[in-house]
Amino acid sequence: MTHPLLDLPPLTARRFAAIEDRVARLLDTRQDVLITQGEALLPLEGAIRAAAGPGTVALNVITGPYGQTFGGWLRDAGATVHDISVPFHTAVRAEQIRAAFAEHPEIDFVSLVHAEAATGNTNPVAEIGEAVREQGALFYLDAVASVGAEPVLPDAWGVDLCVIGAQKAMGGPAGVSAISVSERAWARMAANPNAPRRSYLSLLDWKERWLDAGRTALPHAPAQLEMLALDACLERIEADGPDAVMARHRRAAEATRAGASALGGGLEPYVHDAADAAPVATTLRVPPSLAASDLVAAALAADPALPLAAGGGALAKEMIRVNHYGPDATESAVQASLAALGTALAAQGAPVDPAAARQAVQRAWR
Ligand SMILES: *Cc1c(COP(=O)(O)O)cnc(C)c1O
Repeated sequence: MTHPLLDLPPLTARRFAAIEDRVARLLDTRQDVLITQGEALLPLEGAIRAAAGPGTVALNVITGPYGQTFGGWLRDAGATVHDISVPFHTAVRAEQIRAAFAEHPEIDFVSLVHAEAATGNTNPVAEIGEAVREQGALFYLDAVASVGAEPVLPDAWGVDLCVIGAQKAMGGPAGVSAISVSERAWARMAANPNAPRRSYLSLLDWKERWLDAGRTALPHAPAQLEMLALDACLERIEADGPDAVMARHRRAAEATRAGASALGGGLEPYVHDAADAAPVATTLRVPPSLAASDLVAAALAADPALPLAAGGGALAKEMIRVNHYGPDATESAVQASLAALGTALAAQGAPVDPAAARQAVQRAWR
């Protein structure tokens, strides 16, 4: 008996290349696109270790936990690193990037996270990209949480290394990821004697053995099931229309902000300005007398399928994450999440108005 997940024909080089082309269309890029055979941490780390070295002077923008991770890799690679941190309730501004360039004119690498699912903010990449181009620096962007929820346009924005994953707003698998690489970025890697070679982390190996060889023979057995799932999710996004998929995420974020404010009980949007709030996920601030992790635990005990999580690490007490992405970018997921949080807040004695929250979500959704 054949099994639908097991007894599959091999994934061909031609099919692999066609899936890469589909990713390139989604990103509207003419850069090389590589589908990397691992979760997004693989190209995120591989790109930093390839493009940064002892001669690199990096500006690392920290707007959430991933920026901290990138700073660690950059230092580990021998780069000189200037961090700018902005509070997690806001976004970084292009003027802050320009000010950092003025202070450290030798900066030649910028790392930035586009949207942060973990903190709920999104950064103005188009404007920042202009500043980075003026500086002539290489621009590295983590777009894992933004792709599918809002436009990600590496060519238009001058992004040299743009990493995406399918597991958030694309509603796809987590086990493969992709990176678009500019000519400048390849040149920087080729000139870096410390860039990983003959290594699982090596982007240059894939360039040599796959891209430069005309994409006719795969260097290794691909993650076949994940590749098929990625293709299926790209096909679904094309069928629904990327604009419609992004609009659903935008609406889910607006509805969550409006609904949480109307719910009361001291709950408020964590990101102050709606323009800085990521369409992929909405973070909520819990009043100091309550613990976000307790409220989330109570809500999930009632319905484990809700897209709710407490903030990570030090944020677990004060932050609730509503992960309204992929299949949860719907009015019903937002309604159910806020209803469950309302019940959990009421059980703690907080004054809430679930009917007002319901109406606010409905209004924002229209
Ligand atoms: C989700 C996410 C990733 C991928 O990390 P996972 O922990 O595997 O989900 C990378 N970068 C950002 C900004 C993300 O939000």
